[in-house]
Amino acid sequence: MLGKLGDLFGLGAGNIGIDLGTANTVVYSENKGIVLYEPSIVAIDVSTNRILAVGKQAKEMLGKTPENIRTVRPLRDGVITDFEATKIMLSYYITKSISGGIFKPKPRVVIGVPSGVTQVEKRAVIDAAKSAGAREVYLISEPMAAAIGAELPVEEPVGNMIVDIGGGTTEIAVISLAGIVVSSSLRIAGDEMTDAVAQFIKRKHNLLIGEQTAERAKIELGSASIENSFQKELEIKGRDITGLPRTIKITSEEIAQALEDVVAAIINAIKSTLERTPPELASDIAERGIVLAGGGSLLKNLDKRVEKETGIKTLYCEDPITAVARGVGKVLDNIEVIRKVAMP
Ligand code: ADP
Ligand code: MG
Repeated sequence: MLGKLGDLFGLGAGNIGIDLGTANTVVYSENKGIVLYEPSIVAIDVSTNRILAVGKQAKEMLGKTPENIRTVRPLRDGVITDFEATKIMLSYYITKSISGGIFKPKPRVVIGVPSGVTQVEKRAVIDAAKSAGAREVYLISEPMAAAIGAELPVEEPVGNMIVDIGGGTTEIAVISLAGIVVSSSLRIAGDEMTDAVAQFIKRKHNLLIGEQTAERAKIELGSASIENSFQKELEIKGRDITGLPRTIKITSEEIAQALEDVVAAIINAIKSTLERTPPELASDIAERGIVLAGGGSLLKNLDKRVEKETGIKTLYCEDPITAVARGVGKVLDNIEVIRKVAMP
């Protein structure tokens, strides 16, 4: 193939696949695999409206910025709330990932985006990628990309169910014959779990904690089922209502309690998607299982809880956090498949 021959001479286009997630952006480069994994965050100087930092650097500023600096997550809720920031972030990641060179042709870029994006938002993403040097740009909805990354047989006439729990959105989809047959997208996912932890600590212990502390408590102690939460404790630092710093001990049981409503909402959405699934496809899913992807799905015991409540075997795909990026990466050099699965 020409692509392979081109690589031999260092002429490969170096096509790239991007998972433009609500919490993290992951870039897959043809022949190299995952080359970038950074938070979908930008830091803006509000007095001049200039972007000061993108990705990891911007995340480090989170919650620690002086008044004139604001950190934003332009895709926080699965919709693009800040076009300019999204464009700059995307351009920055594309430029960082394509190895330029005078003989290099411009790359094809395939981007996984939340399924709820509007036509206007799709345009903005495509324009941003083109202005960053892409030759052609295709968009694939995240659940489709996750299913491909999870190696599900999406083109076959069988029902596949993928549940991708990210930061801002949970995408549930039943895929058959390269199309999404039934789906549901809710704005409840990992961020809501983090918020729930912070709210709980505030209510129960009168302690204000930052987002990063709440996230750490969620990851280290959280569980999707209260019974199964093996007892563990963690010391966390916050500020009490008088404004003074205070350290408390929290238990895994408390965190599981805090997370219960969010977990229940996700489970209900999975159940209602199953109820809307045509019987033939539903029986395929019952046989093949429900597949989990996305960082939010890593909450301990989530697989067991989904399995218990739906009665269907539930499994993780390999490396759930990179499923979407590997999925867009997998189709990069196959234009026929891209055309079949791309968003209109
Ligand atoms: P997106 O695709 O929306 O960018 P990701 O798939 O990167 O999101 O997932 C980000 C979310 O996953 C965050 O809310 C983060 O706190 C959560 N997360 C990451 N690891 C874990 C873990 N081990 N347990 C629970 N939540 C996790
Ligand atoms: Mg995602």
